[in-house]
Amino acid sequence: MSKNVLVTGGAGYIGAHVCKVLSGHGFIPVTFDNLSTGWRDAVKYGPFVRGDLLDRDRLAAAFVKFRPIAVMHFAALSLVGESMTDPGRYWRTNVTAALNLIETALAANCKAFVFSSTCATYGDPDGVVLNETTPQHPINAYGASKLAIEQMLANFAVSDGLNAVIFRYFNVAGADPDCEVGEQHRPETHLIPLVLDTVAGRRAALTVFGSDYNTPDGTCVRDYVHVMDLADAHVLGLQRGLSGKGGVFCLGTGTGFSVREVIAQARNATNRPVPVIEGVRRPGDAARLVSGSAHAIAELGWAPKHSTLPQMIADAWRWSNAAGYSE
Ligand code: UDP
Repeated sequence: MSKNVLVTGGAGYIGAHVCKVLSGHGFIPVTFDNLSTGWRDAVKYGPFVRGDLLDRDRLAAAFVKFRPIAVMHFAALSLVGESMTDPGRYWRTNVTAALNLIETALAANCKAFVFSSTCATYGDPDGVVLNETTPQHPINAYGASKLAIEQMLANFAVSDGLNAVIFRYFNVAGADPDCEVGEQHRPETHLIPLVLDTVAGRRAALTVFGSDYNTPDGTCVRDYVHVMDLADAHVLGLQRGLSGKGGVFCLGTGTGFSVREVIAQARNATNRPVPVIEGVRRPGDAARLVSGSAHAIAELGWAPKHSTLPQMIADAWRWSNAAGYSE
């Protein structure tokens, strides 16, 4: 049987780590990516198809050529702030791409489908620790577009027997400890790499987006998960999809850290200052997003090993001092 798995967005941060772990488990990740935000250098563990999910012919040709046994769908626009200023782009790109992919996969009789969803589908849930049954009321277009795709997958599960495994993840951080792949965005918008750029002197200061939230220190609280743990969960999800089952799983640690706590940890880890500017709130941000992962642990046997804040910052710091991908 083919060991090929079509990985959309395999040249991006999370996709590239998942490709590494897939290849370690004997799968062949076939990356399908338009390189709009990904990196050719990040595709190291299997074939690469440069293509856009809005181009159905190119996508169908990839299914014919590689005959994947499953799809893992990471390719998406994923910036909360940008989704608030350009929602049309998020609806068009994320939702149309997912529909094209689902229909093309089903036409090729490929029914195992692992999807990257997000805690942004919950909205601003007011202090609770989230789980799979918490009501979803997104407050930004990014979260809304991902929720629409979750619903689309549920519909195709009923109509066509699609085995959709949906992961809602929280804030992904860290990097491959071997530094073969890591996080590199142009421009960078995520907190931990920006803090580390500031530590390294590549940025003059880190702007804290709002310190008047209803949280212990006034800054937003997020649940950070190590990208290698996330990748492990995806392989377990793939195996579940291949065995004919679907499901929804939250991947968090149950512990949240504020923006200020992340900054303090980076200061401790590197022994260097982090100049800070107190900024205004970023539109679309929830005060606190923290999730348990009891369902993923019980049902999938997920066992996160690296998701402590010191380890995530240490691995991100090592990667940020490595060569990175060429521009
Ligand atoms: N954040 C910040 N300054 C920055 C970037 C992010 O204060 O320069 C905050 C942001 O408002 C959020 C948290 O850090 O509360 C994590 O943001 P990130 O963009 O890393 O991930 P998101 O939660 O949007 O997925």
